[in-house]
Amino acid sequence: MEIAEKISQVRETVKKWKKEGLTVGLVPTMGYLHEGHASLVECADRMCDRVVVSVFVNPTQFAPGEDLETYPRDFERDCALLENCGCDLVFHPEVSEMYEEDAATYVEILSDMPKQLCGKTRPIHFRGVCTVVAKLFNIVEPDKAFFGQKDAQQLAIIRRMVRDMSYGIEIIGCPIVREKDGLAKSSRNTYLNEEERRAALILSQTVFLGEKLVREGERDADRLLSAMKAKLETEPLARIDYVSAVDAVTMAPVAQIKGSVLVAMAVYIGKTRLIDNFIAEVQPL
Ligand code: AMP
Repeated sequence: MEIAEKISQVRETVKKWKKEGLTVGLVPTMGYLHEGHASLVECADRMCDRVVVSVFVNPTQFAPGEDLETYPRDFERDCALLENCGCDLVFHPEVSEMYEEDAATYVEILSDMPKQLCGKTRPIHFRGVCTVVAKLFNIVEPDKAFFGQKDAQQLAIIRRMVRDMSYGIEIIGCPIVREKDGLAKSSRNTYLNEEERRAALILSQTVFLGEKLVREGERDADRLLSAMKAKLETEPLARIDYVSAVDAVTMAPVAQIKGSVLVAMAVYIGKTRLIDNFIAEVQPL
């Protein structure tokens, strides 16, 4: 497995692969990797000849006061995990390699899409995500790129960016990987103390409740969301940021659960903000 810190090195290696007729998959990450990331890399390994994983805590997607400085990092451990799941090249740039000091160009979706859900409390977040992912696309020029359904709004936004900017890249969404007890795996779970870790289970329990209600025939979004909020409120350590039902493609709020609906939540457990979601697929009879 090759490790590159420079954009030029990535370009050279990918150029060599493409000359040999090999296909390339990209998995963008912020590191501190877990089985959720590994599932993306394994999927990329199955679908592409060569896999590039970027490990980069992207400053432009963090607002002042968020956890940019404290975001967990352990590059050696990341490399050990990546060796075992089919990664061929790790791109691990310094911030200065990715952003010139006077960088002033952003990729931003100007519709309401990035303003919904997480965008309400994180207004510059998706501009930073789109900008860094666009840069990674330009650097790696992959055939396919892999993103987790865990960050459902991010996945939808990347799909829109790829469409709007005519990137010739296929976007593959991969299912949420959970701990045995249901908690969605996340690098931020390391922020939780023992009591908070137990309390965090309320997110997945609420997702499972929502899925059950839809399975049982609930089609009214307000009633569904009220039941989910009531469940979240049973946990004293949980503070709801949002629980919403939106169109899975456009992120516009829906009143009825029909077609493909994303039911998503962000909840603070202590100081840690966690997200979880499910997609309700309800086809008309
Ligand atoms: P991050 O390092 O948190 O930016 O995540 C990098 C990629 O891994 C994103 O596409 C995430 O959606 C995905 N990811 C993170 N956690 C999980 C998980 N538990 N299951 C599936 N994908 C995940």
